[in-house]
Amino acid sequence: MTSERIYLDYAATTPVHEDVLAAMLPYFSTLGYNPSSVHAEGRRAKAALDDARDRVARALGASRKEITFTGGGTEADNQAILGVARTMRERGRHLVSTAIEHHAVLHALDSLAADGYDVTLLPVDERGVVDPAAFAAALRPDTILASVMYANNEIGVVQPVSELAAIARAHGVLFHTDAVQAPGWLPLDVDELGVDLLSLSAHKFYGPKGVGVLYAREGIPVPPLIHGGGQEFGRRSGTENLAGIVGLARALEAAVAEQPRRAARAEAFRNRLEASLLENVPDIRINGAGARRLPNNLNLSIGGVDSEALLVRFDLEGLAVSAGSACTSGVLEPSHVIEALGIQPRWHQGVVRFSLGAATTAEEIDRVIDLVPGLIAELRSVASTPA
Ligand code: PLP
Repeated sequence: MTSERIYLDYAATTPVHEDVLAAMLPYFSTLGYNPSSVHAEGRRAKAALDDARDRVARALGASRKEITFTGGGTEADNQAILGVARTMRERGRHLVSTAIEHHAVLHALDSLAADGYDVTLLPVDERGVVDPAAFAAALRPDTILASVMYANNEIGVVQPVSELAAIARAHGVLFHTDAVQAPGWLPLDVDELGVDLLSLSAHKFYGPKGVGVLYAREGIPVPPLIHGGGQEFGRRSGTENLAGIVGLARALEAAVAEQPRRAARAEAFRNRLEASLLENVPDIRINGAGARRLPNNLNLSIGGVDSEALLVRFDLEGLAVSAGSACTSGVLEPSHVIEALGIQPRWHQGVVRFSLGAATTAEEIDRVIDLVPGLIAELRSVASTPA
């Protein structure tokens, strides 16, 4: 065992980058005033808030009025879905989404279903991709919103969002995408994507936790989930998390500016890790193989072992990875994403997600390549030994 730990769980969260932290720090102290105050301190805080909103809008190819700062990705997803459903309920009560969304989307949809809305969850193919023809066929005259994630947090599969958004638009249906996993890895221009609503979360791209963005194209109704003083154009009340918002804006600018470089670097490392594990570990499956995937994601099903044993053993050796979604709880339940692939149940166990970061090094990947095949062999021999 070595003392240097290797963190390959960046899809769960990223630490705040030191430049982002430096930009945030004054807004906890010397500049930490209320943007709604009339005095000079407040006006400076308001200027910082406006500046952050402009930076986020520019990074997304949007305008500042289309940006709402939220308390994270979960809140942005909820507001997009519940907000549109509420304001459009006289027009229709049908929503379309997919079986592999994050629970922030799925459970928001569940709450609408409990209120009498009709929800269609589209299946995915064995790679994890939604079929655009099936998507088009699911849209009805009473469909008000479609929500399809840009990239999946577990298997990294990227959906054909611009194609789906164009289909939705042609049918007069609003289109939301949960883009929480995309920054730093995929292009994010909202016009190129053609989406009406988009969710982000700062802690996935080296910003702080508890702050996110809901982009809503001008004219699209997003009534507040949180009522009060009318901040954020009346869309999200409460004194703004100024330091968090400043940090989010800096982190997003960096993620967008560095996206091609970060993606190319991570993809080369990921491909090397994947090729080596395929060669040196028998009986494994690459989930998402054959589809366009996030360049930093490698999700494996490993035959003959269970996820928890793998994670604990890897952790003991200094390797921090995940079984998929860490967002849900500390409990390892079978993943709804893996189940939705329609693959043999034996592949539902032994799921491990490696998610690389912007600063992951070749040496870290080399150590993982050295370590993992032996640990899996060891766990398999223990699992096959009669008690
Ligand atoms: N959507 C996706 C795809 C995610 O991976 C996450 C992860 O946490 C969320 C939504 C929720 O974001 P947050 O943790 O900011 O609430």
